[in-house]
Amino acid sequence: MTDFIKKRLIIFDLDGTLAQSKSSIDSEMQCLIEELLKTRKVLVISGGKWRQFKVQLLDKLNLSPEQLVNLFIATGGGSSMYRFEEGEVREMYSNVFDHEEREKVLEAFKYAMDAAYEKPEKTYGDIIEDRGSQITFSGLGQEAPLEEKNKWDPDRKKRQAIVYKLMEKIPDFEIHMGGATSIDITQKGKDKAFGIRNASDRLGIPLENILYVGDALYPGGNDEPALETGVDCQAVKDIENTKRLIKEIISQ
Ligand SMILES: [Mg+2]
Repeated sequence: MTDFIKKRLIIFDLDGTLAQSKSSIDSEMQCLIEELLKTRKVLVISGGKWRQFKVQLLDKLNLSPEQLVNLFIATGGGSSMYRFEEGEVREMYSNVFDHEEREKVLEAFKYAMDAAYEKPEKTYGDIIEDRGSQITFSGLGQEAPLEEKNKWDPDRKKRQAIVYKLMEKIPDFEIHMGGATSIDITQKGKDKAFGIRNASDRLGIPLENILYVGDALYPGGNDEPALETGVDCQAVKDIENTKRLIKEIISQ
């Protein structure tokens, strides 16, 4: 049983944990996060770019200056981190792919997709998205409706086959499955564990005072790296699960 009172920093994954994949947080989640920010620091880590956080999370929150200084955002799966000062966004650190790395990853995707990806009859938007510090594959395309996504690869076998092929070509990168249809690639060492350790260092909060919450803590999942940091990790099945957890934390 986790001792929530000691936890000064709560780190959340975004998609599948705080919000449905690529959707905004709902009003109940909004209230819970606002309440949580009154007493705890909160870091949200996701593979998405800033715009994704803005639409899914930041635009929905009504925060006082005191709450806003407790909120931190890590994009690119932990590659870059931001905080707020007097209402303005400030970069804490940033790591993006250089040209050579980007080419290498795109070539590896071409190889892996030729070998192990059967393009569905209907796709929605780009299959490969360059997010600066992360390159992401989405089996049905970036804009696919959630219900289609949930049907595409529920046992993760389709993506695992692609991951094996990617590992042949780019073992020197982080390769993780996330969401319902995606595979995320970041620089070696620039994963959620990197984000968690940086948050601990830069905010001066020991690892034992941090709780990590995510829906993909399973082997190969994009939250799995959190486990290696030694912070307490709480796996959630869906956002309703996360809401129950936040209520428990707030009540203490
Ligand atoms: Mg997730």
